[in-house]
Amino acid sequence: MRPARALIDLDALRHNYHIAHQRHGGRVFAVVKANAYGHGAVACAQALSPDADGYAVAFLEEAIALRNSGIRRPILLLEGVFSPDELLEAIHHGFWPAVHHPDQIKMIERTDLPAPIHIWLKINSGMNRAGFPPADVQRVWRQLMTCGKVEECGFMSHFARADEPGCDATAQQIRIFDEATKGLSGARSLANSAAILGWPDAHRNWARAGIMLYGADPMPGEDNSLLPVMTLESRVIAVRNIAAGEPVGYGARFVAARPTRVGLVAMGYADGYPRSAPDGTPVAVDNKPTALIGRVSMDMLTIDLTDIPEAGIDSVVELWGRQVSVNKVAQAAGTIAYELLCNVKRVSFVWSKSNNRLSH
Ligand SMILES: *Cc1c(COP(=O)(O)O)cnc(C)c1O
Repeated sequence: MRPARALIDLDALRHNYHIAHQRHGGRVFAVVKANAYGHGAVACAQALSPDADGYAVAFLEEAIALRNSGIRRPILLLEGVFSPDELLEAIHHGFWPAVHHPDQIKMIERTDLPAPIHIWLKINSGMNRAGFPPADVQRVWRQLMTCGKVEECGFMSHFARADEPGCDATAQQIRIFDEATKGLSGARSLANSAAILGWPDAHRNWARAGIMLYGADPMPGEDNSLLPVMTLESRVIAVRNIAAGEPVGYGARFVAARPTRVGLVAMGYADGYPRSAPDGTPVAVDNKPTALIGRVSMDMLTIDLTDIPEAGIDSVVELWGRQVSVNKVAQAAGTIAYELLCNVKRVSFVWSKSNNRLSH
């Protein structure tokens, strides 16, 4: 079998969830949308059960997959529902849809519901992406609470810049949210990972922890004791020596400045490793640091083994994980850890609970 693998450390995931809990207080939705940021939604949700207070996904189908796997805790639908049929499904499964747009309110009013629904009213506190204008919140809330179809209504909002410590835009979003919801009863949810770690003022009844669960710190450089959950690894499948001046790979992007020992690795952009990664992007071979050289291909990439003479065919190559920070790879490739993690595919996934580094 091709040696490209994503090793998922479920104990690290649980450890990170506990950190979210400790830092935030209150309850914490484990955000497992997009297949748990590429880590496997069902495996991750089950590993967090029964500790997780609730889960959050983007849409109905993601939530149904969790219910079908035995997850019984509340599941928040961050984008809400897209049709009356979905509204009925959401009620049937006990999901909590976000309501961020007037059309979704009309849907609730016009659909014959078998039971009242638990919703989260989403407020646009400044990101200008989704949510009701702050000035409409009191009216919309009254409309929802008097239509006879809403059993509970929480209030949520999302930050645009919580990963920028001290940023006034975030302080202002908090003020706008509090002002808009003043005097209204219902649970509040403001904090994403960055706000859990960096904005105590944003801590309310529920947090929504995503990226931090997977061990990628949204504010790299701080020590928040998060543990990487995914190790993306493969092996060296060929080695060749080239002379100074010789090129490697498509477009001859890399040209050897010295006699170079090139390792070929079974991992490419079709597996989710970013094609935009430049020469010099960190990798680890048999636990020693070295670098990508040459353009990433669909199925393969090339690395510099010149200074690791003991490495050869079958040497284990870590693309990211405990030794190579996914944040560093993302930064080199001009993107964010979220995107790299979400994109992992085609490799073999191995979920493991046995990890003796941790004591739970
Ligand atoms: C994805 C998402 C989150 C999780 O954000 P992280 O930065 O990954 O913690 C929280 N809230 C909403 C509305 C989201 O869409």
